[in-house]
Amino acid sequence: MVIVGAGYTGLWTAYYLSLADPGLRVVVLEAEVAGYGASGRNGGWCSALFPTSLGAAQDAAMRATVDEVQRVTAAEGIDCHFAKGGTIVLARSAAQLTRARAEHGDRVLSPAEAARRLRAHGTLGATYTPDCAAIHPARLVRGLADVVVGRGVHLFERTPALAIEPGLVRTARGTVRAPYVVRATEGFTPRLPGLARAVIPVYSLVIATEPLPAAVWDEIGLAQRETFSDHRHLIIYGQRTADDRLVFGGRGAPYHLGSRVSPAFDRDPRVFAALHATLLDLFPVLRGTRFTHAWGGPLGIPRDWCASVGLDRATGLAWAGGYVGDGVSTTNLAGRTLRDLILSRSTELTALPWVGHRSPRWEPEPLRWLGINAGLRAMTMADAEESLTGRPSLVARAMAPLLGH
Ligand SMILES: Cc1cc2nc3c(=O)[nH]c(=O)nc-3n(C[C@H](O)[C@H](O)[C@H](O)COP(=O)(O)OP(=O)(O)OC[C@H]3O[C@@H](n4cnc5c(N)ncnc54)[C@H](O)[C@@H]3O)c2cc1C
Repeated sequence: MVIVGAGYTGLWTAYYLSLADPGLRVVVLEAEVAGYGASGRNGGWCSALFPTSLGAAQDAAMRATVDEVQRVTAAEGIDCHFAKGGTIVLARSAAQLTRARAEHGDRVLSPAEAARRLRAHGTLGATYTPDCAAIHPARLVRGLADVVVGRGVHLFERTPALAIEPGLVRTARGTVRAPYVVRATEGFTPRLPGLARAVIPVYSLVIATEPLPAAVWDEIGLAQRETFSDHRHLIIYGQRTADDRLVFGGRGAPYHLGSRVSPAFDRDPRVFAALHATLLDLFPVLRGTRFTHAWGGPLGIPRDWCASVGLDRATGLAWAGGYVGDGVSTTNLAGRTLRDLILSRSTELTALPWVGHRSPRWEPEPLRWLGINAGLRAMTMADAEESLTGRPSLVARAMAPLLGH
């Protein structure tokens, strides 16, 4: 077995395969170091979210996956600060409240009910789900890497795959041959020959405060380390860390022509400033707080926003990805599913609707660049429009095909 990419997808796959068949020789090739990609730098929502709606069986598998991550990390001693406090999503404008009611009916919380979990400025209502844990992303991925290496998996860091072909992976240091090759390269996939239009890398950026004193947390809430967001179009996400920082992220960074990824794109002062302003708007108590960290990274979006996992039996080529911003738990489901596919087991997991799904390719450039950046711009405009008018955005409705879902 050879797996390309040592993020959660690659490492969960290696983990479950090595457990199922200790005699199997598993090699993982990683261009940089394990956890270098989105897995080492995400917002730490281990949620039951799936980027598109695929029905009850997929949803149930996602909910069970959150608990599976907890079970394995506890069993393997991976101290990833797992806290299953659920997610609270605020409605902070009339338009957001209308959307929350349309999606959640009478399960929308009143401002007073919302305030029991999170006290943010301008809250008109909220929705809550218990199916999410806050985790420390890098601790999870580095912990997993240690566990799989301890189980005999061969992890080669600083070893980029130059090409993936049936039965082999080419690297500058030699060719690795194996009957099965798993591609687990997510936002970096377009760099591989033949895969330029498989997913697009979209950057998500994050800022973190210094550890906040108890008095500040008394004002904000999140006593169960609930993850939080609101019902705006341009996604934002936050969590309270185990060491009492507030970590807060969002989209809005531009897409780069030709699906380029570069460390230079991980940091964007304009996006960091926007995140900072949004956070102060949510929690005015943070005025004067020191922000100690800021970072970002690429996630992978397929043309139909539908994550997938699969194995082509004719070639032995397997893949998993296209999680959009919901990969922390979904990668675990992918790892268990790839185990079953590769070991030719027919299970509940291999019957899930995302298995074998093939997303269409993205448009060639410059159409891709024009469409994606117009979509990102439209989401920002739609949020501004809604806070002015209080009504669901006309821009958002007109641009719906570009906004994905
Ligand atoms: C800032 C940010 C915040 C996010 N927040 C959340 C969140 O809160 N919750 C959530 O569920 N999801 C979140 N996501 C998405 C989530 O992190 C990803 O979906 C998930 O980590 C994907 O894991 P992966 O292993 O498939 O990909 P990655 O972690 O990106 O790993 C891919 C690996 O492949 C390596 N690689 C690439 N090309 C090659 C090659 N040619 N040869 C060898 N190695 C190669 C890369 O170096 C990398 O280490 C976020 C993403 C970002 C960027």
